[in-house]
Amino acid sequence: MAGKWSPNLEPETLAFPIKPRRHEAFDSWLSRLTAAHRVSRAQLFRHLEIAPGLSRLDLARGKGGLDPALHAACDAMVERLAWAVEIDPEQINATFLACEAAALLPSAHRRYVCALCCYEAQRAGGPVIARREWILRASWRCSLHGLPLTDMRSLPLEATGRQLQAFLAHAVMRSRRIQWKIKPTSAALARNKTVIDYLIGPSDWVGLAPPYQRYQERFVANQYHFACERIAMLALAHSPRAKAALRFERMITTRLAERPLTEGRIETPVRGALRLRTCKLPKPRSKWACDIFALFAAYGTARQRQEQETALAAEFARYEGLPPPSQAAWPSRGLLDAASRAVPGSA
Ligand SMILES: [Zn+2]
Repeated sequence: MAGKWSPNLEPETLAFPIKPRRHEAFDSWLSRLTAAHRVSRAQLFRHLEIAPGLSRLDLARGKGGLDPALHAACDAMVERLAWAVEIDPEQINATFLACEAAALLPSAHRRYVCALCCYEAQRAGGPVIARREWILRASWRCSLHGLPLTDMRSLPLEATGRQLQAFLAHAVMRSRRIQWKIKPTSAALARNKTVIDYLIGPSDWVGLAPPYQRYQERFVANQYHFACERIAMLALAHSPRAKAALRFERMITTRLAERPLTEGRIETPVRGALRLRTCKLPKPRSKWACDIFALFAAYGTARQRQEQETALAAEFARYEGLPPPSQAAWPSRGLLDAASRAVPGSA
């Protein structure tokens, strides 16, 4: 009897061994790799027998951004990926950033590229990549071209050839317009460059104090990525007209319900009073108004109910053989007298 057939599940090197480019961020490279093979990150990791939990984590900082318990798994992932695309593991380690997590944009907002870099790469037949420094909060212009970055959502990356080139050329013109309109100061640009250089390669700063500490803290705390004009806001923050950007920072750090938090989460809204949420006028304390006809109607209703209760009590007493109840179903007089007598000090 023939043995049961089972598929060969041994991992193999990838069909398209796409290698990371120089200065490319890890996520940018891995996105290109998964897109070329038309698989998700989880499927790729499963195929290469990489710890599946890693596919759900933010790997932009490599094992430096992970729990120590996952360091071995991260090293194994780097080894495995390097084997799959036939490169040295150090080439993958070079895609990671070693800065603090707070210096990075939240992962959903890491989508800024230099349109001119992409244009040139595309003309040369290369891929559109995101450089490591472009995923930093403080990053807003290309260090090669000095051009403000472009939100990738404005580019139809599924387009190819001349169509993509036309879109990229248009994006370059939009960035140039920001550059001409908002003129950053040379001192602010130099400060920004020093900080970006520090964040992407802090190894040169070992033993030295971080440069421009307050500037760094400001760009860690800012929430510009929530503004659709993030790049223009950052350009403004580095120009002589920095007050508009500063006003935005102050406004967004004001304690408000549903204010975005630094780590990208949204603060749970606290439900206020209904009249404040609906902007209705406050309720009056009492609806009482002297209406003599309503008073007569209320008296008539009470009297009718009293008579019904008296008749019911008399019938019940007759049925049970009890003495008939007093005529007053509500012995209010007696009760009121008793109550007034019970008031302390009134005796
Ligand atoms: Zn560029």
